[in-house]
Amino acid sequence: MTARVVFVGAGPGAADLITLRGARALARAEVVLSDALVDPALREMAPNARWVHVGKRGFEDSTRQATINALLLRHARTAQCVVRLKGGDPSVFGRLEEELEALAAEGIACEVVPGVTAALAAAAATQRPLTRRGQGRSVGLSTAMTRDGEVRALRRADTEVFYMAGRQLGALAQRLADAGWPADTPVNVVSRAGWPDVLSSDHALDALAAAAVLHAGRPTVVIVGAGATAPAAQCPQLDPRQRRLETLKP
Ligand code: SAH
Repeated sequence: MTARVVFVGAGPGAADLITLRGARALARAEVVLSDALVDPALREMAPNARWVHVGKRGFEDSTRQATINALLLRHARTAQCVVRLKGGDPSVFGRLEEELEALAAEGIACEVVPGVTAALAAAAATQRPLTRRGQGRSVGLSTAMTRDGEVRALRRADTEVFYMAGRQLGALAQRLADAGWPADTPVNVVSRAGWPDVLSSDHALDALAAAAVLHAGRPTVVIVGAGATAPAAQCPQLDPRQRRLETLKP
């Protein structure tokens, strides 16, 4: 049986970061229910689909999850192939289980296609591996915000990557210090990873609050510890705008 609903990770930015499998699902789709953060160029990959925006953009009000679930069910009952397109990877802070449960309750067949999560796109953009031989053996992905809007931080992995921290960098720095990270710990802040206008900045932990203005209003990840340090030698980087133009050439 082919899946009626395919959850597709769009990747963090430019349309060409989607997987081939995800692009093929888009090409088959009759309906696409999409997060607002995905690249509009992805629409061209779904020429036959009705495109419905359901997701949140930044920190604005989001369509309530119950509404998204109801929309998914409605389209899954009538269309042969519905794609639920999510930013990054659907399994990382993507509310995937709620949507899978809603579909499972109706016995609707689903498939999940992975995508490039923001942490990995940030590491690629800055050419800073998240794991380092001899220093970085583990990586943690955390949300900086709890459900009731509290800021939390921890020190369990050699490299900790925090999602959803952009607006709370001062508070995050404080919680990181409370969790035992020294004041001079390297922190790398990356916003709009995977987009042509990606921005990366470096801070000591106790000066992290200064990054707030630079990255304001942009989706941002905060990388703390081993993976935040620049490698001893760095390759010259192509201008991302140039790279994008090159990938768009036929
Ligand atoms: N499923 C997504 C995460 C969704 S939660 C993924 O796998 O990447 C939304 C958070 O992801 C944002 O608050 C931000 O912290 C992070 N994020 C999403 N896109 C990003 C990007 N292009 N660059 C940096 N951070 C990003």
